Amino acid sequence: MTNSLKWNDLLQNNYGAPQIELVKGEGSLVFDAEGKRYIDMLGGIATNVIGHAHPKVVQAVSHQVQQLGHVSNFFSHPEVLRLAQSLQRITGDETARIFFCNSGTEANEAALKLSRTTGRKRIVSTIGSFHGRSMGALSMTGQESKRAPFAPLIKSIKFLPYGDIDSICRAITSRTAMVIVEPIQGENGVVVPQTGYLAAIRERTLRTGTIFAIDAVQTGMGRTGEWFGYETEGVMPDLITLAKGIGAGLPLGAMIAFGKFASALTPGSHGSTFGGNPIACAAGSAAIEVIESEGLLEAAKLKGEYLVREISSLPGVVQVRGKGLLLGIVLQTQNAAEIKTKLERLGVIVNAPNSQVIRLAPALNIPQHLLAEFVSILKGAPVLS
Ligand code: PLP
Repeated sequence: MTNSLKWNDLLQNNYGAPQIELVKGEGSLVFDAEGKRYIDMLGGIATNVIGHAHPKVVQAVSHQVQQLGHVSNFFSHPEVLRLAQSLQRITGDETARIFFCNSGTEANEAALKLSRTTGRKRIVSTIGSFHGRSMGALSMTGQESKRAPFAPLIKSIKFLPYGDIDSICRAITSRTAMVIVEPIQGENGVVVPQTGYLAAIRERTLRTGTIFAIDAVQTGMGRTGEWFGYETEGVMPDLITLAKGIGAGLPLGAMIAFGKFASALTPGSHGSTFGGNPIACAAGSAAIEVIESEGLLEAAKLKGEYLVREISSLPGVVQVRGKGLLLGIVLQTQNAAEIKTKLERLGVIVNAPNSQVIRLAPALNIPQHLLAEFVSILKGAPVLS
């Protein structure tokens, strides 16, 4: 039964009123208020890494809420330690120290504050980037349409063309506090930089003593077939920001700093009431356990390759770009929003980060038969043209 409560009567209009009301999720399927079934090819925008209502997450969260739902940051608890230990281990660097928060915006805000501890103020970011909506994170976001209504923002932030090694390396000097880069620009339409881009930035920042921060909020937690999305470039950043998939659907973010930057934040310098919340951390640990025990890094790679293979040659498609299960279908026409709506009618959830791109970011454990069903829906009608 459709809910008689209306979005516009109750909620602010910052998202526009959604047309679909979802009431239930099971793995990579979601159901609306009328019982209509959808294949979830978006995963809550790269967030539900192991799908909806995964039994391990349900069990971990249910147990934890009965055991200890929240403590302030005056206290330690086993779940924050357990998740921090797993994150430290998967970064492969024992110097990693973690600050927990609740979102990608907050993780990047923490990174920006940490960068000020260097005594430098200049930041280098990229055109088209997305780092969040708070005034600090927005200041580092390279999308004019999102920035302009809220000017003035923080100054001393330069934006360079994404993927252009020469220009970004020239912009990084010994006065630059931090460079922040996404391994793939998800919100900008799943844009992949040239090979060697991150490595060149790493080399330059080591010369100038600049913090190299990787925003892995969207690429992180296995989405690209590796943990954070930078590993195949053979680089190690000074700082990683995470959110989305890290909480397996619960609100959780993290800023991980390495080496000398791991101790840059001192008592009283930063904080978050809910950061490191036991329930969110229990969900995060359950997600890492499932990703490891079910081999989901490799699965993400193979499933991504399958989708690229099947979709690239369909009518109306210019290219399928991305890595693992973060993919952008680049269309010949500028009608991505219409195609998204058409797919919803056909029982598939995707999104359109811009007018020419359909983004796919399903759960890493989406079953092969649902991927095949999605592909056959695309093939069965001229959906993409
Ligand atoms: N950074 C990146 C790369 C993102 O994709 C996003 C969200 O889409 C953010 C930061 C902001 O994250 P949140 O919406 O959790 O604040």
